[in-house]
Amino acid sequence: MTKPQSFVSASRAALLGVAVGDALGVPVEFESRQVRAADPVTGMRAYGTHRQPAGTWSDDSSLTFCLAETLARRDGLSVSPDLADFGRRCINWLDNGYWTATGETFDVGGATHTAINKLRRGVAPELAGPRSEFDNGNEALMRILPLVFHQTWQVEALDLNAAWALTSAVATVTHGHPRSTLGCFFYLLMARQLVRGEAPMVAYEQSAALVNSWLHKQASELVFHEIPHYNAVLRGDLPALSEQQISSSGYVVHTLEAALWCLLRHDTYPATVLAAVNLGEDTDTTAAVAGGLAGLAYGEASIPAAWLTVLARRTDIEVLAQRLTTR
Ligand SMILES: [Mg+2]
Repeated sequence: MTKPQSFVSASRAALLGVAVGDALGVPVEFESRQVRAADPVTGMRAYGTHRQPAGTWSDDSSLTFCLAETLARRDGLSVSPDLADFGRRCINWLDNGYWTATGETFDVGGATHTAINKLRRGVAPELAGPRSEFDNGNEALMRILPLVFHQTWQVEALDLNAAWALTSAVATVTHGHPRSTLGCFFYLLMARQLVRGEAPMVAYEQSAALVNSWLHKQASELVFHEIPHYNAVLRGDLPALSEQQISSSGYVVHTLEAALWCLLRHDTYPATVLAAVNLGEDTDTTAAVAGGLAGLAYGEASIPAAWLTVLARRTDIEVLAQRLTTR
């Protein structure tokens, strides 16, 4: 175990790590792996899929920052998060371009859109997220990372029941099915171990062992039913899988697998996020999810300066990261 990071530097590395990964993927979102193999992304590109300037991040980062804002409110990291506040910020993002890179909201996922429409009609945040098995896109996973700084996830003696309840509450605002919560839960546990200074492979083995033993103690049929869907992650041998066995669709299970696979097969921030983008398809989200962990693993200094220089609203992100973890 190396030295644990300060929360401020971890928070900056995490938020910048998400946004840079997202921005690398935006210009080539939806393009296939074959197209990327012939023309790999090696740095920030402009235009492409969403016709945005270089350094423009999308919904993944916007909703991550909305959650960070909610948690950055006074006592937001020690009490139960104010989900109504988070819901209002999500509405403001979709309607008014709040916490967007350029003032324009683009790239909105289906379940998120449905949930925000319900929030706008006054449905309680606990009931807003669609909850069928088919509502398991990766949009709860892509925005969940700031929650790792909540006290529940950071106490020395981690209470996995409390961490599950907190994660479920925050995921459910847009994604009410336990499969989405389980993806977020594993991801946050990985992130916690990285904040504490563990190397990625050690963090992964510890997370797989902890989640496996916790899941097998659950009385809930629903949670137990989810285990087979995360087999590749929970078995503990994810990095041994071939690229052909890794999907990079917008399904939460695929995104978690792909992001972890990229993290565990590479040993720098840029190599991890470029590998994620070059898997193709849901490039921005795979790279945002991988980028948050790679930022935590290797620190802000590992993110290429040339990428940070063009990143939209870099200073605003840094100030938000500071506010998230200092009071
Ligand atoms: Mg996106």
